[in-house]
Amino acid sequence: MRRRLLAALTATAVSTLTFAAPAQASHSWGNYHWARTANPFTLKLDNNVDSSWSNYLNTASSDWTPSSVLNTTVVSGSFGSRSSCAPTTGHVEVCNGAYGSTGWLGIASISTTGNHISSAYVKVNDTYFSQAQYNTPAYRRLVMCQEVGHTFGLDHQDTNQTNTNLGSCMDYSRNPAGPPSNEHPNSHDFTQLQTIYSHLDSFNTPTVAPSGASALAGNARSSWGERVRGTDGRGVATYVREHGRGNYTITRVIWAN
Ligand SMILES: [Zn+2]
Ligand SMILES: [Zn+2]
Repeated sequence: MRRRLLAALTATAVSTLTFAAPAQASHSWGNYHWARTANPFTLKLDNNVDSSWSNYLNTASSDWTPSSVLNTTVVSGSFGSRSSCAPTTGHVEVCNGAYGSTGWLGIASISTTGNHISSAYVKVNDTYFSQAQYNTPAYRRLVMCQEVGHTFGLDHQDTNQTNTNLGSCMDYSRNPAGPPSNEHPNSHDFTQLQTIYSHLDSFNTPTVAPSGASALAGNARSSWGERVRGTDGRGVATYVREHGRGNYTITRVIWAN
């Protein structure tokens, strides 16, 4: 199982390198997807953010809603404390907080059984977003749009922070406003979603509670497991933690510069 997972990640990494052909969508995140019996399906984004982020969450939800295979809707989150963002099966929890000098601006994590996502969370770190360098609408839009996109199963289109923007929030950049702007998805992202969600499943993920899948929402690098892509502390990176019985947590991180 582990070998298969790593093989899938490797295959994705290779296809990302050959991404030059723009017509071919190739930035899925493994083959991870939400199980569902029909398209389009609706994914609830649980709003646990405060007023400094709620507009950005709403924008990210609107950004992704044009997808032909999925809709997102923002619903009221259930966490009294934003520091806790432990995901509930079938939900995408979205949280903000001053999580401290963790090194990261934002993280997105999915819990999976096989290729099927069972829960997800997004966290954005106000310890950095309170700093002038990051406290811009463009930076907030990029990070929120990208982290939410990861919870669908999307990978990055590009991870070079200093090259010309591709015009997608799935392209990490230190210059999110561009031009072109990397604050919203582009058509390539929607094509990739069609590819990821081209098959149907015989069940819906929210009805399946995978046994043994830990609902981890750790802020520390040590809680995310093995690094399978990228670099600790720079750019973007991916971590996989195995929980046994085919259950994994995959965490995507945007590091602060
Ligand atoms: Zn499936
Ligand atoms: Zn990312």
